[in-house]
Amino acid sequence: MNKTELTQYIKSEALRLGFDICGITKAQAVDKRIQAEYRLWISDARHGTMQYLERNSEKRFDPTLLVEGCRSIIVVAMNYYPQQKISGISDYAIGKDYHKVVKERLFLLLKSINEKTGTAGRAFCDSAPILERYWAVQAGLGWIGKNRQFIIPGKGSCFFLGELVIDAELDYDKPFEKNLCGDCKKCIEACPSRALNENGFDARRCLSYLTIEYRGDLPQNCGNMLGECFYGCDRCSAACPHNRFSTPNTTEELQPQKELLEMRREDWEILTKEEYETLFSGSAVERCGYEQLMRNIKASKK
Ligand code: SF4
Ligand code: SF4
Repeated sequence: MNKTELTQYIKSEALRLGFDICGITKAQAVDKRIQAEYRLWISDARHGTMQYLERNSEKRFDPTLLVEGCRSIIVVAMNYYPQQKISGISDYAIGKDYHKVVKERLFLLLKSINEKTGTAGRAFCDSAPILERYWAVQAGLGWIGKNRQFIIPGKGSCFFLGELVIDAELDYDKPFEKNLCGDCKKCIEACPSRALNENGFDARRCLSYLTIEYRGDLPQNCGNMLGECFYGCDRCSAACPHNRFSTPNTTEELQPQKELLEMRREDWEILTKEEYETLFSGSAVERCGYEQLMRNIKASKK
């Protein structure tokens, strides 16, 4: 199989395995301007308590240090826009944990490539110091919006990203050079906590960060801003006009279980630890833990 045949094979396999789109870029150091922007964001402490974002900066800025001998980054995206929404919980978190769902398919893709060519590599989904959205832009899939989400033209931003970093050279896609946000500010206007502004994103103010990542007491004014949300906040995503293109996903593992669909607001308020474990075992909501979820439910609007 020559380089071009292998590239085409990988892209068609990615679609066959359930990914919605696939692009490929060369593994090399991250653009210096992006590195500087990231360093400034960290030095301003806008990442809050997410200290893991401070670590491994050499690997984060150069995937050839993360995966020795790698030459190509295959970037895939998987639609998570739900068939039915669950009030209070972010759309991305209502099915099985996306890290597992995406990585299972990436491992199948890697196995399939390896059987053809002996190629080795590693799979990532929000699971390593790798600038996922940056590489998705480099692979030509879309742009990073003012809401800091990755947007695929004609498809929207409700997608999980995953990467396969491999040691084979491939044909590379052209980077996506446009930013289709233009003068739009709908996400900034929709953000209840002013975590988003024209100068960027401050995680410390973000309701998604506060309800999922932050372990301390919630700020006093948080309840009003949360509204009904108690795990994440989708307002900047819901406000984005590019998400009018979203279509419900059909991936079996991403569908919510029946018990979750039946939950009412009054049920959440008296949720027991056993019920929590039944509802969220194997889901991304496990990241939050029972006590923290109850902290959020108590703070959110009745
Ligand atoms: S998730 Fe909510 S709080 Fe965070 S930036 Fe978006 S709109 Fe603002
Ligand atoms: S709402 Fe508007 S500014 Fe925000 S990400 Fe979407 S297109 Fe860009």
